[in-house]
Amino acid sequence: MAIKITRPQGTEDITPKQIYKWHTVERMARETAENFGFHEMRIPTFESTDLFLRSVGETTDVVQKEMYTVKAKETEFTLRPEGTAGSIRSMLQNGLLNDALPQKIFYILSCFRHERPQAGRLREFHQFGVEMAGSAGPASDAEIIALAKAILDRAGLKNIALNINSIGCPTCRAEYHKALRAYFQPHRDELCETCQTRLEKNPMRILDCKSEICSGIAKDAPVILDYLCDECRTHFEKLQEYLKAQNIEYTINPKIVRGLDYYTKTVFEFITTDIGAQGTVCGGGRYDGLIEQMGGKPTPAMGFAMGLERLILTMESQGCEFQPPHQCDLYIAPMDEAAIPTAMQIASSLRTSGYQVEYDLMQRKLKAQMKYADKIGATFVLVLGENELQSQQANLKNMKTKEQFPVSLGEKFEEKFDDIAIQYMFHDVVNDFEKECGTHGSNE
Ligand code: ATP
Ligand code: MG
Repeated sequence: MAIKITRPQGTEDITPKQIYKWHTVERMARETAENFGFHEMRIPTFESTDLFLRSVGETTDVVQKEMYTVKAKETEFTLRPEGTAGSIRSMLQNGLLNDALPQKIFYILSCFRHERPQAGRLREFHQFGVEMAGSAGPASDAEIIALAKAILDRAGLKNIALNINSIGCPTCRAEYHKALRAYFQPHRDELCETCQTRLEKNPMRILDCKSEICSGIAKDAPVILDYLCDECRTHFEKLQEYLKAQNIEYTINPKIVRGLDYYTKTVFEFITTDIGAQGTVCGGGRYDGLIEQMGGKPTPAMGFAMGLERLILTMESQGCEFQPPHQCDLYIAPMDEAAIPTAMQIASSLRTSGYQVEYDLMQRKLKAQMKYADKIGATFVLVLGENELQSQQANLKNMKTKEQFPVSLGEKFEEKFDDIAIQYMFHDVVNDFEKECGTHGSNE
């Protein structure tokens, strides 16, 4: 008996019916990043496990609970749980940091984390991310946040709150860690097992724990903002000044510590309440120590990652527009086998000019072919029967307006089709414009 195999839990298929939404957000993000002078980078799906242990951090949820580590012929790899570690590894390996600074890159990639699947939380998900390496000043923090905001604005999102925080540098954090240990010590036995080990190694991670008991205890914990050194405090104040200069609204949220260890100074999230509990659409921050820690020269850096599933979910819930897919420009309906070579020739020449053209491959009767043309949203249909072949004359039918245009087959066909198609597209644009502006008939 055949066994039906289904996709693994926490993964999703993106079918041809949904792909236009992905193309829309990918295009928007890519074009906006390019407007800011960022360039695309592509990195491997798997990296050595050490890369993530050393960068993301051994006490993080991602490393402790969520990594997909695979062994192939005695060599161990990990499927990337995020994009920063791999992109920095790649920048170092390819000498990009010896080039003009700041280096500004972006990526669109899938990430893998073994989490409990739910709406907006998958085991394979997709991120659009950016990294900027080489600039230390708060203007670059503002630039990174402005880029994330520009993408969300371009998507048409409303009600998405920017939360910012500073988590200081190793200097101010030493004092803060002491205060946190003193605060959590009396609650030690109530903390989850993972957080008990974090108490010694990295108490700030307790603030990021998803367990209700731990987050309840952490509610009144000391906040890092009270422990910032002068440099970190000035940096944070300047950032706020630069955000205000660009009219970017924000809230200071001292609870944001971010789930990965490499962050320093500025951290931020864009949060919506429209898609349930998993509302962080974008998260990022500065990571001034990471590049040196990974074997490069000390180089300040900053970046963010946007979850594309959560971005699309939010756009859907807010009724934002996605660019509709390009549909069939011409469907050719051969009424019998004799018309097939002519259909092939017409299709081939129009496809070369960039039109989307199909013809019958199912040996269907005309009625069924018209039904198919309608289903695929064909703009024009050309029926080719014995009469048409003999006279080399046919009718091009516009399926939307029902207009018919007499056309000659042969050499002149393409030129004529171009004329008719352009007229129709123009007519469509004018129609849309009139609908939008409500000017239809106003001059009469
Ligand atoms: P969360 O707190 O929701 O677990 P995170 O801090 O682990 O998020 P990051 O590592 O900062 O997330 O990843 C950046 C973005 O990627 C998140 O803001 C979110 O939009 C998206 N993301 C993270 N994990 C998942 C997941 N399992 N499924 C879908 N999207 C995710
Ligand atoms: Mg997480």
